[in-house]
Amino acid sequence: MEKSFLIKPMLDEIYPVIDYGKGVYLYDMEGKKYLDAASGAVTANIGHGVLEIIEAMEEQAKKVSFVYRSQFTSEAAEKLAKKIADWMPGDLNWSFFVNSGSEATETAMKMAIQYWQEQGILTKTKVLSRWVSYHGITLGALSMSGHTGRRARFVPLLEDFPVINPPYCYRCPYNLEAPACGYACANELEMAIKRIGADQIAAFIAEPVIGAAGGAIAPPKDYFKTIKKICEDNNILFIADEVMTGFGRTGTVLACEQWDVIPDIVAFGKGMGAGYAPIAAAVASEKVMAPILAGTKSVMSGHTLSANPQSCAVSLAVLEYLEKNVIIKEVESKGIFLKNQLEKLKEQFSFIGDVRGKGLLLGIEFVEDQETKTPFPRKAFITQKVVRIAMEKGLLVYPAGAGIDGVNGDAIIISPPLTITEKEIENLLLLVKETLAAFS
Ligand code: PLP
Repeated sequence: MEKSFLIKPMLDEIYPVIDYGKGVYLYDMEGKKYLDAASGAVTANIGHGVLEIIEAMEEQAKKVSFVYRSQFTSEAAEKLAKKIADWMPGDLNWSFFVNSGSEATETAMKMAIQYWQEQGILTKTKVLSRWVSYHGITLGALSMSGHTGRRARFVPLLEDFPVINPPYCYRCPYNLEAPACGYACANELEMAIKRIGADQIAAFIAEPVIGAAGGAIAPPKDYFKTIKKICEDNNILFIADEVMTGFGRTGTVLACEQWDVIPDIVAFGKGMGAGYAPIAAAVASEKVMAPILAGTKSVMSGHTLSANPQSCAVSLAVLEYLEKNVIIKEVESKGIFLKNQLEKLKEQFSFIGDVRGKGLLLGIEFVEDQETKTPFPRKAFITQKVVRIAMEKGLLVYPAGAGIDGVNGDAIIISPPLTITEKEIENLLLLVKETLAAFS
């Protein structure tokens, strides 16, 4: 290939050139086949090359791809907003479309601040969050993120929003077990609010299952009920960052539903367009919208490409595809099977510390010692090594870990398209075994 001027993640590495994708497989220009067990970055939820989506894309493109949202609305955007309202629990009825997960969480943050401003409360501007979390790369979203590795270079530009420990039961800082722990890590929020002052806090944001920062860390049963109650008692909104989990990844439309809580605002991304178009959303409840509708009558945010008909038509087709093929319903059983099989690998590979997650968002944490849970030294780059070996074997897995030396270990996420078949899961497991065997 000629000299490249494309800025890739690692400038000194050679990347395979992709040719095409079909279902759970991707094929590069050399003809090598990869099982996409990561859905790219937990995004390609319905697999690659789905004809219905391509047809919907073409149909919309023939009509119009772009109109500006302050001049026009479109059938695609209206239908998508209606469908989301229909699918949401509670009265999460109002969709604001953006183009990436970072924009979605940042819009959710701004909506929360505006909600208080419209009521004349101008001091509530902080959006608290947890360590070992990731809410996006733009500065507002990064301020909310407790991913030390990604924050490090920009700390002077960021707000100190991460204030509490995550529900990281495998490495519980209290050395306790749920439910006997009384959800001590959730109760830290109460203390943080007292310290900072509820009059300064607009909202609390959390990923239902911690993704990139932790490697599919799912909380114990009543964790989110505890969090939601603390938020309500202190007049603080609860934002669910469902960018990675939304639209079926864990077996329900919202992962929050699995913990019996309904957020005030939700951020969506990734699976919403399933990789076929850049689209994301901040979805607000009637409660959040009421003072905005009565006041400014406009959510004070937006991007040139917000609600563009092209991306909306694609997202609508993705949701219709999920519905028509009853895909979300099968996620739980597929996830349980895959997780059980991965658990069994602990016996064979002593460097597997933890297997965790929910639905088809599963994580494996690697340790130096299974007994003591001692993490590998950060400089050993274990995650990167495993991801690289997997790729050589024709398997894509997603790297995870917050980069807190000695606290959060190396992990990978296994999150194949929700459409994966039983036979393909068997193949995935074979490739995982081959990868781990080559690593050990
Ligand atoms: N929130 C969560 C939970 C994510 O996993 C991500 C991306 O990994 C984001 C936000 C940011 O999304 P994007 O990369 O589309 O900006």
